[in-house]
Amino acid sequence: EHIANQIAAGEVVERPASVVKELVENAVDAGATKIEVLVEEGGLELIRVTDNGSGIEPEDCETAFYRHATSKIVSGRDLFQIRSLGFRGEALPSISAVAKVRLVSSSDDTGLGRVVAIEGGTLKENEETAAPQGTDITVKELFYNTPARLKYMKTIQTELGHISDVMYRQALAHPEIAFSLKHNGNSLLQSQGGGNLLQVIASIYGINTSKGMIPISAENLDYKISGYIGLPEMTRSNRGGMSTMVNGRFIRNQGLQQAILRAYHTLLPINRYPLVVLSLDMHPSLVDVNVHPAKLEVRFSKETELNAFVETSLRSVLSEQVL
Ligand code: ADP
Ligand code: MG
Repeated sequence: EHIANQIAAGEVVERPASVVKELVENAVDAGATKIEVLVEEGGLELIRVTDNGSGIEPEDCETAFYRHATSKIVSGRDLFQIRSLGFRGEALPSISAVAKVRLVSSSDDTGLGRVVAIEGGTLKENEETAAPQGTDITVKELFYNTPARLKYMKTIQTELGHISDVMYRQALAHPEIAFSLKHNGNSLLQSQGGGNLLQVIASIYGINTSKGMIPISAENLDYKISGYIGLPEMTRSNRGGMSTMVNGRFIRNQGLQQAILRAYHTLLPINRYPLVVLSLDMHPSLVDVNVHPAKLEVRFSKETELNAFVETSLRSVLSEQVL
């Protein structure tokens, strides 16, 4: 079991950003409206994620760290119906196999909860404690017991860059949640929640979005599209400012990206890339979330129709502005 967890950890926990991703996804799944992330030294010293979500029942706090104890997958078919972000039940066991983890959680408003500490897969503590509703997980000294892996970590700035990306994606995918990210005491992201996507975009890209970002909104029987696309003065030299979300999940899909660029470039023929945040909602049966969700890739069952709809919708939104 120990060995299995360390092997799984190699797949799930590649670097500090993978820990942040898994913990923040859990907080999102728990229905949190506020998620705070604190990191030190690029996440290698400390990662702390605090949420005000549902919390974990006292009797489940320890078992959450055991492999597949909580896996929500019942059959292969379920992979096509995934709505929640987590479904493998591997993150907490994997993280606690290669770090010193302390979880404090309460599932009600009695002021009481549970604290569970696990270091390198070994249980150190499981006690009752004072706790507000929600979950607070601290991950210290990542890879302290796997020196070979630790050696592969890049500079603090590089690791921090990956963590910021994870947080930006979550904030864009969930404007209804207030996210904050602090590194060594410096604030790197502060979104307000309440569904204000424009504020999230402003906070991430450090721009004044009161002008220049055009709202997108379109719908047909299968798809609902929403988001913002920037006018020419908001363009960028690479695709880093193009974000696509499907059913609340940040994804990458080349066909979709090309559809956006086709619409953008026929109307604004410049060899630059737009700042665009595009959210798609569709029935889960229309999207195949890859067996490896960490890779962010998805396949659409009606790809041609979807891409055509995205292109047409963006064209009409843009042409109103440009003309
Ligand atoms: P998965 O998310 O794939 O189910 P994880 O190892 O990430 O597996 O988490 C195990 C379980 O612990 C989750 O299914 C959930 O029930 C519980 N859990 C973890 N983090 C939180 C959280 N922040 N709030 C509420 N429950 C949580
Ligand atoms: Mg999870």
